[in-house]
Amino acid sequence: MKIAVLVKEVPDTYGDRKLNLETGLADRGASEAVLDEIGERALEVALTQKDSDGDTEVTVISMAPDTATATIRKGLAMGADNAVHVADEGLAGADLGLTAEVLAAALRRGEFDLVVTGNVSTDGNGGMMPAMLAEHLDYPHVTGLTTVELTDGKVSGTRAVEGGKQQVSAELPAVISITEALPEARFPNFKGIMAAKKKPFEVISLSDLDIDAEDQSVARSIMVTVAEKPPREAGEKVVDEGNGGVELAEYLTKNRLA
Ligand SMILES: Cc1cc2nc3c(=O)[nH]c(=O)nc-3n(C[C@H](O)[C@H](O)[C@H](O)COP(=O)(O)OP(=O)(O)OC[C@H]3O[C@@H](n4cnc5c(N)ncnc54)[C@H](O)[C@@H]3O)c2cc1C
Repeated sequence: MKIAVLVKEVPDTYGDRKLNLETGLADRGASEAVLDEIGERALEVALTQKDSDGDTEVTVISMAPDTATATIRKGLAMGADNAVHVADEGLAGADLGLTAEVLAAALRRGEFDLVVTGNVSTDGNGGMMPAMLAEHLDYPHVTGLTTVELTDGKVSGTRAVEGGKQQVSAELPAVISITEALPEARFPNFKGIMAAKKKPFEVISLSDLDIDAEDQSVARSIMVTVAEKPPREAGEKVVDEGNGGVELAEYLTKNRLA
């Protein structure tokens, strides 16, 4: 079985996030770049399958700036067999639509049985990538899994819904997205880090995928303006002097919160 895991480099989740007000992009120099934790958990799903079936081949794929090599290599150190890095200056500021087009083209080259993604990244927070990829690839999409099982050409699992759980499944090939309910990823050990240096690491560009990022006939989002989030204002304090409940209810009604 061939499994592709989509991993994204993000600014350190626990560090300061900054917006470059000139470009409107995340200021990637403002904090350490790391492999998104949800991507690591997605990789753990694939590696667990590889642990139980030695014929499984795991490929990590990322579209990221050319400085992301070390971050992607961490996936190899954790146990993936090979990596594909889509790096191209034309991708700076790529929106979800272009990213999905690029990642789908990269996935088509590998003919994977299963594509594993996180449900939402910690920086972009779009949460749309898995659905867009499934649409591009014309694969079924099993969303927000909290457990994953692979059996006889099928992927199945559990998804949390309001007030309960759903058991869902799809025929392979399929795209699945997983949530933080799945186990944390393993740490790369010394042997893994050394082995990663010799594993296949392919760097490809837009021309390898036959994609024109400037193509005017394709809808792309256009950034009209960029502004920093205004500082939080102090909240209104309701002091209970006997009629606190009434004042609170009035506040909620006035602000259309009730
Ligand atoms: C040069 C360059 C600069 C970039 N700068 C930024 C930036 O400043 N801010 C920013 O948010 N993004 C940036 N990106 C990445 C890209 O534009 C976003 O990944 C994309 O818009 C996805 O948005 P999202 O994170 O909201 O997706 P979501 O839908 O929230 O992601 C869900 C899942 O999809 C997969 N996924 C998402 N993006 C990628 C990816 N790039 N590669 C592999 N798997 C992925 C992961 O498994 C992730 O868990 C840059 C990319 C390049 C090449």
